Amino acid sequence: MAQKCDVVVVGGGISGLSAAKLLTEAGLNVVLLEANDRVGGRTFTVKNKQVKYVDLGGAYVGPTQNRLLRLSKELGIETYKVNEVEQLIHHVKIPNEAPWKAPHAEEWDRMTMQDFIDKICWTKAAKSFATLFVNVDVTSEPHEVSALWFLWYVKQCGGTARIFSTTNGGQERKFVGGSGQISEKIMERLGGRVKLKKPVVRIDQSGENVVVETLDHELYEGKYVISAIPPVLCLKIHFNPPLPPMRNQLINRIPMGSVIKCIVYYKETFWRKKGYCGTMMIEDEDAAIGLTLDDTKPDGSFPAIIGFILARKCRRLTNLTKEERKTRLCELYAKVLGSEEALHPVHYEEKNWCEEQYSGGCYTAYFPPGVMTQYGRILRQPIGKIYFAGTETATEWSGYMEGAIQAGERAAREVLFAMKKIPDTEIWKPEPESIDVPALPITTTFWERNLPSVPGLLKLIGFSTFFTSVAAAGLFAYRKGLLVRN
Ligand SMILES: Cc1cc2nc3c(=O)[nH]c(=O)nc-3n(C[C@H](O)[C@H](O)[C@H](O)COP(=O)(O)OP(=O)(O)OC[C@H]3O[C@@H](n4cnc5c(N)ncnc54)[C@H](O)[C@@H]3O)c2cc1C
Repeated sequence: MAQKCDVVVVGGGISGLSAAKLLTEAGLNVVLLEANDRVGGRTFTVKNKQVKYVDLGGAYVGPTQNRLLRLSKELGIETYKVNEVEQLIHHVKIPNEAPWKAPHAEEWDRMTMQDFIDKICWTKAAKSFATLFVNVDVTSEPHEVSALWFLWYVKQCGGTARIFSTTNGGQERKFVGGSGQISEKIMERLGGRVKLKKPVVRIDQSGENVVVETLDHELYEGKYVISAIPPVLCLKIHFNPPLPPMRNQLINRIPMGSVIKCIVYYKETFWRKKGYCGTMMIEDEDAAIGLTLDDTKPDGSFPAIIGFILARKCRRLTNLTKEERKTRLCELYAKVLGSEEALHPVHYEEKNWCEEQYSGGCYTAYFPPGVMTQYGRILRQPIGKIYFAGTETATEWSGYMEGAIQAGERAAREVLFAMKKIPDTEIWKPEPESIDVPALPITTTFWERNLPSVPGLLKLIGFSTFFTSVAAAGLFAYRKGLLVRN
């Protein structure tokens, strides 16, 4: 016998939980099915004696992420500022909603970011920094991603400075106690409506209601379903009737990025004594890590440096042991920070997201050339009574926790509209700016203001816009005296 409800939500990440929360508050009877033995998905806070708490997945929050700031405040979770008082190190071995509608979009979508970089960056140094920028932002390689998609991705996060910066940018803050609390606290509110260890394997909408089956053969019957999992993971689900051709192909075409998040703990914040804040942008091809940040707790306890092994380097190092990766990282930090103390960690944590079968990789899905223009418009299109959430379907901060909430709440309101409980004008809701974390203006170049939403960029430029603004972000940091080149 199937358990009956109004809406079955598939996936207990921030997106699915946001959808379930909104629908429950609207008085509907909801069941949320989560494959794992925990909620949170691509966010995961581990607690132990050596670290107190640490975010092994999504962690940072900043200005303009107003839905995430609103939700965390409602749940009683505070933020703190990531340390960026001292100097950053730039280590170089030198010598918005419908991008497919843009004029020339197809031409840009046929191009990879590598083609783009090769065309506009004339020096090796510029190419190398541009590559790191792509690696850090979308955990994939320039030759893997569509230029149109990547430029759209940066734009929908507010531009190069907003996406890449700590202060006044996407990495400005973290949550006291960890981001995992967001999902855990929503789960507490939803009580028995959340079912863990229930991977969905079949969705049947051949009858009046939709029947959802889990791996252990439990049946749930809802008037509607919200799928809040990364698009590619729909390949693990059997659909009856089968998905329409374009959706069936879309889910084969947007793979997930590759990242290992690594946190090295030390007795003290020796880097601060040397005048460094802990942020390192590392372009050395032999280096495992591309970007680091200080991960010391706000009260100064548990000194730590967090680092990301990204894209090609992630694939290269994935078969090393945890201990081997730790050693590589410590040797690298010793070199870049010029300090022996880096060789003596007191603890190490890491998470390889490539091994997670219910994520498929992280941070998010990327669009290879040709996919955005041909399949982009169906990303959020409901199929019968199935609606689509998940950060990949967002139009602001897609790929982030903010996007996960936007998508979850939008999908929930689509269901409310389908049930005639709200008008269609209420499906998409702008979010008021957070009072606690307001966005300071970013000095954008003329070019950056016209990055692809996409029409401005495509109409106005030759090719140099995008990296003019990447370079501008770098220069801005140098001018502020924040960046040291070594
Ligand atoms: C290392 C790393 C760093 C990141 N950094 C940041 C950051 O600093 N700031 C930021 O905002 N974001 C960051 N992100 C991205 C952010 O974590 C994600 O965008 C966000 O958590 C996605 O939420 P979601 O609910 O859309 O998807 P998910 O979190 O992937 O949730 C989907 C859920 O569905 C479940 N599921 C999958 N298949 C099934 C099935 N068949 N049946 C039932 N359940 C299923 C999964 O187990 C999962 O719990 C980072 C991610 C990683 C991994």
